[in-house]
Amino acid sequence: MEPTPTEPPRTMTTPYHAGADPAGAMGVGDMPPEEFRRHGHEVVDWIADYLGGVGSYPVVPRVSPGEIRESLPASAPSRGEPFEDILRDFDSKILPGITHWNHPGFFAYFAVTGSGPGILGEMLSAALNVNAMVWRSSPSGTELEELTLDWLRELVGLPGAFQGAINDTASSSSLYALSAAREACFPEAREKGLFGTPVGRIYASEEAHSSIDKSAITLGFGLEGVRRIEADDEFRMDTDALRRALEEDLARDIRPVALVATLGTTSTSSLDPVDELADIAEEYGAWLHVDAAYAGPAAIVPELRQHFSGWERADSIVLNPHKWLFTPIDCSILYCRRPDQLRRAFSVTPEYLRTREHESATNLMDYGLPLGRRLRALKLWFVLRYFGSEGIVARIRAHCRLASIFAGLVDEAPGWERVAPVPFSTVVFRYVLSAVLGDPPGPGGTAEGGDDDDAGELQDRLNMAILDRVNESGEAFLSHTRLHGRVALRFSVGNLRSTETHVRRAWELLASAAAEVKPL
Ligand code: PLP
Repeated sequence: MEPTPTEPPRTMTTPYHAGADPAGAMGVGDMPPEEFRRHGHEVVDWIADYLGGVGSYPVVPRVSPGEIRESLPASAPSRGEPFEDILRDFDSKILPGITHWNHPGFFAYFAVTGSGPGILGEMLSAALNVNAMVWRSSPSGTELEELTLDWLRELVGLPGAFQGAINDTASSSSLYALSAAREACFPEAREKGLFGTPVGRIYASEEAHSSIDKSAITLGFGLEGVRRIEADDEFRMDTDALRRALEEDLARDIRPVALVATLGTTSTSSLDPVDELADIAEEYGAWLHVDAAYAGPAAIVPELRQHFSGWERADSIVLNPHKWLFTPIDCSILYCRRPDQLRRAFSVTPEYLRTREHESATNLMDYGLPLGRRLRALKLWFVLRYFGSEGIVARIRAHCRLASIFAGLVDEAPGWERVAPVPFSTVVFRYVLSAVLGDPPGPGGTAEGGDDDDAGELQDRLNMAILDRVNESGEAFLSHTRLHGRVALRFSVGNLRSTETHVRRAWELLASAAAEVKPL
């Protein structure tokens, strides 16, 4: 049956914008190559100008929720529009609502860079539009992913037993790692589900990322299936507390499915004692998953490698080139030392995906949930080749140097305190209430200690007010966290455009905001 047309078919007399209707097919073909070339050049010029001048935009856009959407038509156009109009609206309507992660004053969350070579690699991936489900559907896609991840594995000092696969995010990578852990602990779950199996648990520090909770929800362990272990003064998992939790659970017939060690936690970039956790995982027969989503690329730097000592004993490791390896989002790598468990967790091959080389070649669909996968390795390959390992080391080192300059400014300034060590490029600090009130607000002289909740809340509000002021400036963007219940500010360096001038300017903004805000 023919579909009922909702509008008259285009004919040669129906106006269509210039250049459309490529092969005389009356509007059914793609944008003609010459038009693509013209707009492609415009877009690349736009990107080059944007990257060159991104520092002149406000880092955080000055818009309210709903404003961007309201500025755009509520429904899609029925008739194709000239590309010039689309680009004009991109500039005038979309750009004002963009938070500029490329801005040199972006110091929030974990700052990142979608570098030039990475952007160009991304463009080519989009052009090829391959789907590397199985080797046959994209031989180069599959083999380039394997090769590039082997290169990176060597650069970060992991042994050849680790096999890598690219996923969209660390949240997915950790989900797949914990699926493999579940498979290893409860092999019957693949057939029967978790119904009727003994209870299983995942152990992670209180500082571990929320993606571990989401994985537990998704895998059927539920939130109670994650036991959060307290952290010490430097925000590292307390291994004595972990042992006590494991023993307590074993006495109640709860099986240890996995231990999660974080190398570079989200709040403070602290490091769990991974070597010791590897011993404990072995002793209790649990899978060891390492979340190094942010810090992992720093293992390329010789003097930072020591922070990762013991991670080679993990069963799986996640690291994100889209965080600190200059690769445009999204690109997260799951390295697995037991890829057979991953395959057992995920391999389901319908007839239409069976190929001649099914057994002899890698089929990336077997290593995670999605069937379809973009050629993400291309942008990472471009990044590794363009910068080379020496260039990457120099850049990560430069970020750590900028962070230590900032840490020094905090340490020297009266009224401010740093609340965590700085192993990488993230500084966590706060303004202390006593600097404003003059007198100590409670025992210990600061709002810390939990004895004086009112003073603590006052200090939290003060820090949030300072943060809002700095972020409203448009010159810098920082984020916050809570440590032991109290607000702390985070300053993370990860952008290739950030220089010492930007770091010092951010500090000036913080200092003048602190001088202006009132604590009430
Ligand atoms: N793990 C850690 C330590 C993180 O800091 C983050 C995000 O910042 C994640 C996991 C989640 O990363 P993604 O956004 O790639 O899922």
